[in-house]
Amino acid sequence: NTMPLQVITVPCLSDNYAFILHETESRQTAVVDVPEAKPILAALKDLGWSLDHILITHHHDDHIMGLEEVRAATGASVHGGAPDAYRLPPLDTQLSDGDTFQLGAESCRVIDVSGHTLGHIAFIFDEALAAFTADSLMAWGCGRVFEGTMDMQWATMQKFKDLPRAMTIYSGHEYTTSNGKFAMTVEPYNESYQKRMVETNAARAKGEPTVPSNLGLELATNPFLRASHPKLKAAIGMEDATDAEVFAEIRTRKDNF
Ligand code: ZN
Ligand code: FE
Repeated sequence: NTMPLQVITVPCLSDNYAFILHETESRQTAVVDVPEAKPILAALKDLGWSLDHILITHHHDDHIMGLEEVRAATGASVHGGAPDAYRLPPLDTQLSDGDTFQLGAESCRVIDVSGHTLGHIAFIFDEALAAFTADSLMAWGCGRVFEGTMDMQWATMQKFKDLPRAMTIYSGHEYTTSNGKFAMTVEPYNESYQKRMVETNAARAKGEPTVPSNLGLELATNPFLRASHPKLKAAIGMEDATDAEVFAEIRTRKDNF
């Protein structure tokens, strides 16, 4: 079984990631988020791929600052969330929850993952087992809830919990070390957390990215996905609280960490 979807991680700015997607049969190429034009254009040149599509997850500057330069240099068409269209640069396609986007033979589902922002979207490639989650589900964490409500962000986390455990999670930032330091305060005696901290430190010491991760690892170690877990609830003395209350408590603790 050949993997028709190739994904290249492109570090941008101080701690952002863009991802270049290439469907090998049709040679259709897309980028998810454009924090900065230069490294993305340089990577495309190295790879010898011409960019057809730009996919935008949400409106924050650190995900779109390179957009106009990349669009001008490549002529790629731009696709973003319909609810964000009023505050994004001009879109060729507005995507809504439940829509499908086709990259050659590979298709992805667009899902609403509001919470960090209202109208944040994620791109889920079910066949290729690749999820582009930007600032919703992050490696060992989740985005700060700026525009939505805690309940909304918890509902978003539940959407991710339902994906296959083998799904690769491509998130938008290299925040894993600080996310892990926080996670360790929630479940300090969890051996999966301890193991992930060792692995994260080793990767960062070598200057390697810790993104992407995968859902199985996140389900075992990400406190924001584990808010419904009896062991996590016990660890913070909230055995009788609802899942949403536990999520809100953990997210609030992280805000103040
Ligand atoms: Zn953001
Ligand atoms: Fe961001």
